[in-house]
Amino acid sequence: MKFGTKAIHAGLEPDPSTGAIMTPIFQTSTYVQESPGKNKGYGYARGKNPTRVALEKNIAALEEGKHAICFSSGMGATDAVIKMLRPGDEVITGDDLYGGSYRMFTKIYEPYGIKFHFINMTDASNVVKYVNGKTKLIWLETPTNPTMQIVDIAAISAIAKKHNLLLAVDNTFASPYLQNPLLLGADIVMHSVTKYLGGHSDVVMGALIVNDDKLHEQLYFILNSCGANPGPQDCFLVLRGIKTLHLRMERHCYNGRKVAEFLKTHPRVEKIDWPGFEDHPNPAIAKKQMRDFGGMISIVLKDATLDETFRVASSFKVFSLAESLGGVESLINHPVTMTHASIPKAERDRVGVVDNLLRLSVGVEDIEDLIEDLQQALA
Ligand SMILES: *Cc1c(COP(=O)(O)O)cnc(C)c1O
Repeated sequence: MKFGTKAIHAGLEPDPSTGAIMTPIFQTSTYVQESPGKNKGYGYARGKNPTRVALEKNIAALEEGKHAICFSSGMGATDAVIKMLRPGDEVITGDDLYGGSYRMFTKIYEPYGIKFHFINMTDASNVVKYVNGKTKLIWLETPTNPTMQIVDIAAISAIAKKHNLLLAVDNTFASPYLQNPLLLGADIVMHSVTKYLGGHSDVVMGALIVNDDKLHEQLYFILNSCGANPGPQDCFLVLRGIKTLHLRMERHCYNGRKVAEFLKTHPRVEKIDWPGFEDHPNPAIAKKQMRDFGGMISIVLKDATLDETFRVASSFKVFSLAESLGGVESLINHPVTMTHASIPKAERDRVGVVDNLLRLSVGVEDIEDLIEDLQQALA
């Protein structure tokens, strides 16, 4: 089955009691047993809920994986992966990471004795320098957030396999429509389902997708033990959202390209980061591992002070000034004060998350209105 057909059908069966084509919202905490221990595969809803099971099968199919587990948020999903580690273990991860991941790694897990190396992964060979006997996990994002750097998943997977490490890829920015890390050798794919998968800015959710049965068992044990499970209403909303994922992504990619081309030559733009440009770093890798380039774009405003950057960020009429991304509506974000505020300034400056950087999540509105809005905001 091809992607769009899977988005609509994978994992879904008509409801056996009524034939309802849409999976019902099983709003229940528990399930009646015929006799003690004899149930229909459902005991208690923290562990399992049929609406969630349908969604998990669907997401697994979209990522070309065998198993998916949904969590109450992307951070809940990330947390489950790190909980597989033990004090003394080491992780190699990127230096241009989602701010919340950086915060969890440094503020929650470093005090538990897990060590994180935040390194530049755009040259895969750099990773080898940080591998030692304690290394257990490589955690990478590509494209990175917010500077859209491209990391070679297949090359890093080869390093992980050689040294017997787990490779987890945060695939939130690309979505399964643009990139499938399991096919490139990753062990775990993480999604903030909140973003492109949900797609309508109305749900917070996360997911992990894996092929290995044992890994699935371990991660499911953590979900069931620690309780970051999503509710059935949210699972229903995401099932509904995913039905148009391929259509939305086509338009995100089309609009993203038009906006990127418009901004590329704009006199107020000093630098633009969008992985579809030939002069963006690692263009060959982007082409090799992504089907298209999406609607996430970062720009640095030419000679703009923080005040001027604020003024531009606040003067849009169609784009909304808000955190998050991947929804149908276009958003503009100022990483330094919003998504990346929890990263120390010195660290931000080192990786190019500067005061005059703006990040755009290009939505699926009519392109003429988006360009007009950019024109007036940058005038
Ligand atoms: C939003 C986001 C997360 C966190 O997901 P939540 O659903 O907000 O908890 C992780 N990684 C990336 C790249 C994100 O954009």
